[in-house]
Amino acid sequence: MSLKDWWAERKKKRAESKEAKVEAAPASASAKKTVEAPASEASVCALDSEPIGLAAADLGELMPGAPPGGKINMAVYWAAACGGCDVSLLDIADRILTVKDMANIVMWPIAVDGKEKDIQALEDGEITVCLINGAIRNEENEHMARLLRQKSQIVVAYGSCATCGGTPALANLVPGGVNEIIKYVHDEVPSTKDFQETYHKGNYVHPQTSTEVPEGTLTLPKLYDTVYALDQIIDVDYYLPGCPPLQESISHLLKVVVDFAYHGVALPPKGTIVGVTSKTLCEECPREKKFERITEVKEPYEVDTNNNKCLVDMGIICLGSSTMGGCGAACTRVGQPCRGCYGPSPDVQELGSSAFTAIASLFPVTDEESQMSEEDIDNIMKQIKDPLGYFYAFSMSKSLIMRAVDEGGQ
Ligand code: SF4
Ligand code: SF4
Ligand code: SF4
Repeated sequence: MSLKDWWAERKKKRAESKEAKVEAAPASASAKKTVEAPASEASVCALDSEPIGLAAADLGELMPGAPPGGKINMAVYWAAACGGCDVSLLDIADRILTVKDMANIVMWPIAVDGKEKDIQALEDGEITVCLINGAIRNEENEHMARLLRQKSQIVVAYGSCATCGGTPALANLVPGGVNEIIKYVHDEVPSTKDFQETYHKGNYVHPQTSTEVPEGTLTLPKLYDTVYALDQIIDVDYYLPGCPPLQESISHLLKVVVDFAYHGVALPPKGTIVGVTSKTLCEECPREKKFERITEVKEPYEVDTNNNKCLVDMGIICLGSSTMGGCGAACTRVGQPCRGCYGPSPDVQELGSSAFTAIASLFPVTDEESQMSEEDIDNIMKQIKDPLGYFYAFSMSKSLIMRAVDEGGQ
């Protein structure tokens, strides 16, 4: 079946289905379900109407006071993260006041003064909900993730790095692992190379996990060769994808917690992906898809994207057909391709290979059309400057590839 036929079939099936929720599983967690907005025009819009993403949840009263059973304990932790996920929590604007009324924040490294020893001192399960963003990249990340798991009733993988490895997991593509990365970063990047040459010529220094100084022993966490998603290290209850998650998605997670804490509403099934729609990103995207054949791969800056044409039709690699909806096509609306930060759509087994297959099927190589030579195909492929970076920008830890290996097969 051609991609065009597959897409038409898919649209037909979607149109036949009036369900607002789906219970389908992304590749990495067969028990996962998706939770989307309550049935509303926004969340169940017809395919041929203006597609939009997830509508924000109504969190109710702004400052509701403490829940009937008293404030719950919340924790937020960043593992291998850029800080964007922490900042995104503030995107809920004045609804942060609801969080203030509802919860004691026992740890949030970027915002409050909670230490590891404070968490150690808590009883197991004393934290009601813990949001962990970032991938697991070093032994401190792993230690804190395990500790917070032990102390928390609910753990949420927050953001693309926690759900699928995110951009930190692109480090898995370095065949030599951590040693190669450290060598490059400390010896070969012009600024550090200059420093090494100036101060340590002939005896370059690298960070050590343990260093003796007059004041005592300084330690650094050991870096891992492979970067992991959170559920590859600890048990995870819910997932909130996005780089970072948008405020509409975050509001749905908060609604789950507010309903639980104030009204005793049962929690969603374990494994639920919160704050996404049942659609693919393409189905939320207002651009018109004509399934043009691709004979040339373009970067967005090389093309005028100020129109309603599908970016792929213009030769730009866009992962919308394989990516879970929810963001309302935030990137494609402004002329930038989707890189897949919301993770694989429920029908997709593996985001990168699925998107790659979809794109490759648009090369003019079908029986009905003029054949391309292998050389032609090779030439198109060569125009994709960083194929793994394009197709696995956010999902390397959950990919079949997982990591590059060196010749020795480590
Ligand atoms: S998901 Fe994106 S915003 Fe969040 S920590 Fe990772 S890179 Fe940063
Ligand atoms: S621009 Fe991307 S998301 Fe939009 S229709 Fe085309 S492939 Fe799908
Ligand atoms: S368009 Fe794609 S990359 Fe951009 S926010 Fe949405 S899911 Fe993420």
